[in-house]
Amino acid sequence: MTIGFVGTGTMGQPMLANLVRKGYRVVAYDIAPPALAAAVAAGARAAGSAAEAARGADLVVTMLPSSSHVEAAYLGAGGIAEGAGRGRLCVDMSTIDPAVSRRVAAALAARGVRFIDAPVSGGVPRALDGTLAIMVGGDARDVEEARPVLAAMGENVIHVGPVGAGEVAKLCNNLIAGVAAVAVSEAFRIAEGFGVDVKVLTDVISKSSGNTWVMEHMHPVPGLVARSASSRDYAPGFTTDLMAKDLGLAVNAARELRVPVVVAPAAQQVLRLASSHGLGRKDFTSVYTFLRPSSDQAPV
Ligand code: NAD
Repeated sequence: MTIGFVGTGTMGQPMLANLVRKGYRVVAYDIAPPALAAAVAAGARAAGSAAEAARGADLVVTMLPSSSHVEAAYLGAGGIAEGAGRGRLCVDMSTIDPAVSRRVAAALAARGVRFIDAPVSGGVPRALDGTLAIMVGGDARDVEEARPVLAAMGENVIHVGPVGAGEVAKLCNNLIAGVAAVAVSEAFRIAEGFGVDVKVLTDVISKSSGNTWVMEHMHPVPGLVARSASSRDYAPGFTTDLMAKDLGLAVNAARELRVPVVVAPAAQQVLRLASSHGLGRKDFTSVYTFLRPSSDQAPV
């Protein structure tokens, strides 16, 4: 079986490598030459465009930064819609606006091409291990057809609902993870200020009600979790800009439904500030480095 894989960046590379390892033939395309070269080094054949990657593929996988990239890669000039034959199935694993997933699905359906959304959680470590959580939106038969391919990249493949529903689940998850990263960073800055050992605090919280995946697996304080981005000078991982994007998706969705959201926009703005201070391409847990104590000596 041949897979057309478009978007071979931070996440796409290890996901593609798992497909190759499990015996799939992969034809890859990325607009960035170094990303495409990495895909070739992992065992893929290089295509000259997204359309070319889709042509002749039995199934197309995309892993792109945001909504506009997905629209361009599917529907733009030289895009997947030009190359995918009638009846083909496309699986978008990017985190994007659910409304865009539905729009791309409708545009492809008009050409007889099927589409499901299958965003992921778990970050680079679980992408490397092939143990991502994958939340899927789409027709049940399409989801079953894609399941073996998804299972080559993840261990929890959950069908959430129709097209776009996977993205809704993902933005809800990242609302919590993004807020948690800011909250954990704030808490550890306070503890440090009072001279509490950060390792001891981590032990306490891991056995208490404040425990969170972000602290356990992506600790913002360097040196406490071996595989965390913070222990590699905040090399991503998942960038600050991507997390700010995801919180924005959650806030937009809430606005559409008129659900009041207070904490998510606050966390998004902290991340945007961190980005405007040069941390946009660093891992999102670098927000901790941004929350340094004020130099003002006056007590609050
Ligand atoms: P990335 O920026 O590292 O990789 C995206 C790749 O897409 C880049 O190599 C870029 O050159 C390529 N690209 C952009 N437009 C293209 C186009 N039109 N045609 C072909 N290639 C194109 O991003 P990433 O960290 O791999 O994240 C990808 C998606 O996965 C995002 O939506 C992100 O929110 C989501 N995600 C990331 C993580 C993580 O830990 N990095 C975890 C879960 C979900």
